[in-house]
Formats: sequence, C-alpha cells, structure tokens
Amino acid sequence: MARYWCEQSWSGDPDEAVLRNVLVEVSNGRVVTLQAGIGGAPDDADVLRGLTMPGCANAHSHAFHRALRGRTHGGAGGGGAGGGGGASGGTFWTWRDQMYRVAAVLQPDLYYRLARAVYAEMAQAGVTAVGEFHYLHHDVGGARYSQPWAMAEALAQAAADAGIRITLLDVLYLAGGIDQPLSELQRRFSDGDHDGWRARTEASGARLATYRNARTGSAVHSVRAVPRDALAALERERPRGPLHAHVSEQPAENEQSLAAYGCTPTELLHRYGLVDDQFTAVHATHVTDHDVSLLASSYVCLCPTTERDLADGVGPASRLASAGTRLTLGSDSHAVIDLLEEARAVELNERLVTGRRGLHPPARLLGALLHDGHGSIGWDEHGWLRPGSPFDVITIRLDSERTVGGNDALASVLFSATASDVTDVIADGAHIVADGRHRTIDVAAELSAAIAALDDLADGSS
Ligand SMILES: [Zn+2]
Repeated sequence: MARYWCEQSWSGDPDEAVLRNVLVEVSNGRVVTLQAGIGGAPDDADVLRGLTMPGCANAHSHAFHRALRGRTHGGAGGGGAGGGGGASGGTFWTWRDQMYRVAAVLQPDLYYRLARAVYAEMAQAGVTAVGEFHYLHHDVGGARYSQPWAMAEALAQAAADAGIRITLLDVLYLAGGIDQPLSELQRRFSDGDHDGWRARTEASGARLATYRNARTGSAVHSVRAVPRDALAALERERPRGPLHAHVSEQPAENEQSLAAYGCTPTELLHRYGLVDDQFTAVHATHVTDHDVSLLASSYVCLCPTTERDLADGVGPASRLASAGTRLTLGSDSHAVIDLLEEARAVELNERLVTGRRGLHPPARLLGALLHDGHGSIGWDEHGWLRPGSPFDVITIRLDSERTVGGNDALASVLFSATASDVTDVIADGAHIVADGRHRTIDVAAELSAAIAALDDLADGSS
C-alpha cells in the first residue's frame, strides 16, 4: 500500500470542491481510500505540494508534427526537415506540405525515438494518456512493412517507455481529396481500400494488445480522404471503441463537401451512422447549427493552439457545450504542448469573438482534460481521483511566480499555470515526473537528437 499526502486535491468532478490535507492510499495502481483533513503528512507518505488532480488526456496528437515546431510558425517554408520559418505568407495548405516532408523520411526506429521524446514532453506537461491519430502506416511509396504494425508498435513502445497510456487511433486514409488520387507522399498513409485498412488494423490491434498501456480505436482522416464507399463499409463493419475524424477544420473542406455531396462533413458522416456517443469530431471549427445539433451526443476535440497557429478560426465551443456535446482537448500539431493553455484558450478565444466573459466554468474546462478527454479515447474509468479510480495523477504547484497569490485553486490552474508548473506525475503506479523533470528521459536532449537525425534524412532525400 503506497500513501500520498496532498496539500490540496480535486476529484475532477465539476460539482465537487477542492479538498485540503488529503491522505490517499493506493494499491495496485488504484485509489483505495481518500481522506481529507489529515493535518500533517504521515512519515511514510510521499508529499505532493500544490493541487493534485487526475492526469490529463491529450485527445488529439500527431507525434511527428513536433519536428515542425520553431520552423513553420512564421508561415513560409523551405529548408530542413520542417522548412525554415519565414516572416509572412503561407496557409494551412503550405504548412501541410512542410509536414509531409517530415512524413516522407520517418522509419519505425526513428519514429520510436522521436515519439518517446514527444510523449515524455507530454508527461512533463501533465499528460498521462494520449490519443494518437496515426496515419503513417507504410513504407515510402506505400510499400508494406513485413510487420504491418511496425509504425503502430513504435508509438505504443514510445508511450510505454515515456510512462503514459496511448490510444492508437488507426486512420483510414484513401484519397488525396474528394475524387483526387493520392500523392506520392500520401501513399504511405493508405491501405488501398477499406478491407486493407481493416486487415491491417486487426493485425496491429492484436499486436498492441500485449501492451498494458495501449488501447486502439479507429479514425476517418476526413471526408476529403475517405470516399463514400469506404464510409459505407465502415458503417457495416465498424470496430468497437472510439472513432475520431477531422471535421470542418477549414472552410475549404466544407465547400468541397457541399459541392460533391450536397452536405457538410458532419452531415455526411451522420448519414453513414458514424456520429454517435463514441464519435469524436476533431476541430469542428466551421460547423453549422445543424452540425451542432447532430454532434450533441458526441465528443468534439478542440485544439486551440494548433487552430490559431494555422489560422483555422475559433470554433463554437459554448454552443456545442450547450447542446450537450462533451468537449475534449488536444495539442494536435504540438506547436506547444501545454494542455492548460489549450483549456484556457477555449474560454479566452470565445471571449474575443463574442465580447462575453465566463462562457465556460473553470471546472468544466479542466474536466475536458480529465474524464471527457479519457472517455473520448476509450479510457472511460480514468480522469477521476476518488476511491476505486486508477491512480493516474498530476500535481501543479501553486507557489510559482505564475500561480502564487490566488484564492481559487482551479481558477489559478486554468488561467495562470503552465506546463512548467506540473511538478509530479504518477501513472500506472510509477512516479514518472518529479520536481518537474521526467525521471528517465532527458526530454530536450532526446528531442534535439531525434530532430537532428530527421534533418539529416530529409537533407539526404532532397
Ligand atoms: Zn489532426
């Protein structure tokens, strides 16, 4: 039985208050008892100073996009694995071309190294579970790996070695656009047809079942990349578990869908029975009132730091929440990895657009990182800190220059804390981050080495 004494703790339930002086007893990675008002820390208890709460779910990640950070945000491209930053110009679509240059050269061994460092960066930021939207399935040119799960296993092993849980959302990606062929680069993403995707995901799922930190789910890349016959096949033979799709991130996607199908991307997915309580619409930035009503029982994963970097726009988060949609959050392109920043941006971006404050209670936005985030990636029992729950927790300091002086711990954390204020992370029984540092991985050094190796490969191939 391990014992932890928390200066303050929060269960993750928006209707419950923050507790003080809390003794938590843990056995086999689960909370056994939780008792508030224990004045001093017992000698045999680990002391967690600050606010301890459930670990965060990062519900939308493309791990390899981390290699583009610091290279593409100016908007123009050219040079190195991710292109050199320019001062002006560029769109979502030119950013995507730079991203494809990285995708062109990754192989399983290097993807493992890069992803391990990225997931360790996430751990340091308080993430204990990630939803990896995985479409880099095949070798260059679309050739099959002898082990078709090679890339998926690289990601599961990377998460295991970083100490976090992963849901591998295996992406169906068949077309370069509506009625468009795949580009040479996009061949790596495609299984040829729905049956090919199904066969590979089943093999991959069986392989990943040996990883205690890994679960699997499905994804439709977007209505641009998946033709209607494949959506119909998915409707007939839908695997159990979460289903995610990029939806209406850009106005151009809506225009293309309306022109080809006479309906929005959400309406098209709904026609094929895919929009239900297991479904997560990623972004949902440019959705109509009808789309919002269709998404009422689903999840929507907002990725505000990516959406602002790519000039996507501000989605209707409060309208979605009012309709009943469960909001979740993801760092997506990893322009930054700071889930508290994602959560606060939902409220602050909407303030700018609407001229109104207080659209989302702080506890609800933090909840998007906790139980709803975990639910959307298939870890339904996670995201709570209470007896019986898995003991995946993080501690956020309330005495840093950013957080000191507040009188409401949840508001301080949501509006003032950053990833740098996460001091401790405990997941699946292991204390993986202490004093703000990953205990087994030198995150900056490993990111640097992996991205340098990627640069060498990209330079050699261009
Ligand atoms: Zn994405």
